[in-house]
Amino acid sequence: MDTQHIPAEALTALVRDVFLAAGCDAAESGRIATHLVGANLAGHDSHGVVRVPRYVEWLEAGFVVKGQTADVVTDGGSFAVLDGKWGFGQTVAPQAVALGIARAQEHGACITALRNAGHIGRAGDYAEQAIAAGLISIHFVNVAGSVLVAPFGGTERRFSTAPVSIGVPLPGRPLVLDFATSLVAEGKVLVASSGGKKLPEGALIEPDGRLSTDPHTLYGAYDAVGPRNPSGGAGAIRAFGEHKGSGLAFMCEMLAGCLTAGGTSGPVTGRGRIANGMLSIFLSPRHFGTQAEFERMGLAYAEWVAACRPADPSAPVRLPGEPEAERRAERLAQGVPLPAETWSNILATATRLGVKSPV
Ligand code: NAD
Repeated sequence: MDTQHIPAEALTALVRDVFLAAGCDAAESGRIATHLVGANLAGHDSHGVVRVPRYVEWLEAGFVVKGQTADVVTDGGSFAVLDGKWGFGQTVAPQAVALGIARAQEHGACITALRNAGHIGRAGDYAEQAIAAGLISIHFVNVAGSVLVAPFGGTERRFSTAPVSIGVPLPGRPLVLDFATSLVAEGKVLVASSGGKKLPEGALIEPDGRLSTDPHTLYGAYDAVGPRNPSGGAGAIRAFGEHKGSGLAFMCEMLAGCLTAGGTSGPVTGRGRIANGMLSIFLSPRHFGTQAEFERMGLAYAEWVAACRPADPSAPVRLPGEPEAERRAERLAQGVPLPAETWSNILATATRLGVKSPV
């Protein structure tokens, strides 16, 4: 398979220019580009620049709104509900997180409930934003209007891919757990359908209960280059972790969809567009009075877990966030690998908007 390695800086510049040409201002274009390329650098190609054509289509269709500011609709001091009003997730989610950080730094804890955010991308980014401020954070996310995942024991779609992220700011060893509650993120099906990494066994399920790794199960028929319709197929992605992961996905819909009042994956949305909801909890170890112990015990524990004898001597036990940090160092040095189809889809969008690739 043909893969190009694009230097991160050039790729960021290209994506920024695409969103500038699509009408976003410089700050928003830069945020979207940095976030998407950041996801590729972390190794999460599913939430990286493969999304550029779809984001531009959503902007053009009015499904996502440029230059938006999230409204605080309920302000309880140590908690707040925010409405992203379909703004770019890379704009309104950092706004909600900034508010949560500021309030947790004041009160010791804060809960933010964000609704109607455009696609927020890699949820780990928001845990990293809190880590940079010295805070623990927990994020439950859902995708209102996106029904892709079958619950444990089912063959029909009921959940979104509803990710969860937890960030822990240990000095010199930041830990970020960040995953979809589906066996694979939808973007991983997108990447597989564009010639990228194949799906793991049993990732998808057909309506008759047969397991599948074929992206057509999710998208139905599609051309090699061009859009994918996530509601085009008859099958579903499976929830991870059997009944446990399925239960966590269900609770993400409850917390990020129902408590935020942004809505769930289904049954009826009638909106014709998707939005992320995100319930975030921010905790300040300094206010808890346990900062020194938290750091000492946390580092000692992390060290002990990482030192566990590996099942495979060539694959040491890794902690949450470590694979991403390794991948980031590697890709910053070697460039971001992009399958030919992903790259040509991005270039087609750029060309349509009159943007020249610097590469
Ligand atoms: P994944 O299955 O790759 O799991 C990633 C997590 O597992 C990370 O915390 C990583 O550090 C850890 N990990 C990976 N390999 C490990 C190892 N060998 N040992 C220890 N820990 C390891 O992630 P995913 O489910 O494919 O999710 C990909 C991305 O998709 C995430 O960033 C998620 O936030 C994003 N996502 C976003 C949305 C949305 O609506 N915005 C929806 C779904 C997923």
